[in-house]
Amino acid sequence: MKFADLGLSDELLRAVTESGYDEPTPIQAGAIPSVLMMRDMIGIAQTGTGKTASFVLPMIDILAHGRTRALMPRSLILEPTRELAAQVAENFEKYGKYHKLSMALLIGGVQMGDQIKALEKGVDVLIATPGRLMDLFERGKILLTGCNLLVIDEADRMLDMGFIPDIENICTKLPANRQTLLFSATMPAPIKRLADKFLSNPKTIEVARPASRNENIEQFVVKTAERGKRDTLRSLIEAEDVGTAIIFCNRKTTVRELAKSLQRYGYKAGEIHGDMDQSSRIAELDRFKAGTINILVASDVAARGLDVKGVSHVFNFDAPWHPDDYVHRIGRTGRAGAKGRAFTLVTPSDDEALDNIQKLTGYTIPVYGGGTPESRSDRSERDADAREPRSSGRSGRGGRGRNVTEKTEKEPKRSDARGSGSRTEPKSAATTPTPKKPAARKPAPQQDEDGPDDGWNGPMPGFLSVGFDS
Ligand code: AMP
Repeated sequence: MKFADLGLSDELLRAVTESGYDEPTPIQAGAIPSVLMMRDMIGIAQTGTGKTASFVLPMIDILAHGRTRALMPRSLILEPTRELAAQVAENFEKYGKYHKLSMALLIGGVQMGDQIKALEKGVDVLIATPGRLMDLFERGKILLTGCNLLVIDEADRMLDMGFIPDIENICTKLPANRQTLLFSATMPAPIKRLADKFLSNPKTIEVARPASRNENIEQFVVKTAERGKRDTLRSLIEAEDVGTAIIFCNRKTTVRELAKSLQRYGYKAGEIHGDMDQSSRIAELDRFKAGTINILVASDVAARGLDVKGVSHVFNFDAPWHPDDYVHRIGRTGRAGAKGRAFTLVTPSDDEALDNIQKLTGYTIPVYGGGTPESRSDRSERDADAREPRSSGRSGRGGRGRNVTEKTEKEPKRSDARGSGSRTEPKSAATTPTPKKPAARKPAPQQDEDGPDDGWNGPMPGFLSVGFDS
């Protein structure tokens, strides 16, 4: 099956080809023709299946055939988080480059005044999180009676976040004869009820989960205290045979601070995050690819799709808030048949995030017992040398025996960027990772769609004329 067989316009096909995609994914092949035929649709698919393009592509053609400039939004896409909303906006920008469609992004963290101005000009596509949309609606700033196309994306996550009543409310504000597309990774009863109530004669398309667990990636959870995270991370870097590593943080401020801290300690570390312009990001990536730096501290959105060969390690300095991000993050290693190792630092407040990751992946990530990691080469050395007791102060291969529990950053040291110089012996006996049972899942609190991050972590789509609060 080719994209050209799906009934999309030539302009759209050109944009798809320029994005580097040859063949539609199963959800795209299944959904695009039905959406173009104006049918309601239920897509049971999760992130990673190409589901975003499965609604963005036909929407662009549908909207292009209607009025070009409307005074009310002509279509509405509901997303549970602002990160997802911004990603959808980026997709519109990427695939819609040969169309003149206007968009507005209504998410928390963006000044409302600017959003209202954008709305007043009229938009073809409104991409919103439910909380912010309801807020503007209640202030009388938005009319949804011209919205003939509605997309409810990640419905099960909306349910987890307590957004279903808002969504029901929003559905009643749109024309009854609209086209509705609903996407969800799973179909729990409340989502099924929502679909029964607001979709008419939908076509259901279900696709398999994307790539199951990559056996080439060894995953570990490392228990640590909030205040000891940097120490734990450095100890891991020292104990592991790190060739090239990506370290993920949830906030861009953490990315900046951690990269600087690692540099102070002599690591060849760089950073990539949403505050950097595209050319700085590319320059930093080039340094990483060339080996000038071997550690890249990154935010999720900035690192999405990053394909660097030979990344030996991924460290999640922060446990990701969204389980999909975990899958994306660790997928930066273990590529093309190579082996990779992924470590996630987990503090007591990350229990729920870890639980969600394990639920999504269906895999209980082994935990390092005492929080002290051990490198593969250390392990084989120990095994070969089993009868010779170690002196605790011995430092292998020029390492100087760093203790994982050190608390300050007062003693920066030089470290070989390729991981072959200063190495540290693990301070305690080997700890075989022991599987940990995930904590019982707590009901998710009603959450603001902004999430706990007060610093937007992703790129700002270029078409947006809106500014940020901070
Ligand atoms: P999504 O499930 O929408 O989050 O998409 C997951 C990833 O697949 C994104 O990085 C997309 O850019 C990528 N993608 C979307 N469509 C295709 C396609 N037809 N072929 C290859 N990759 C794709």
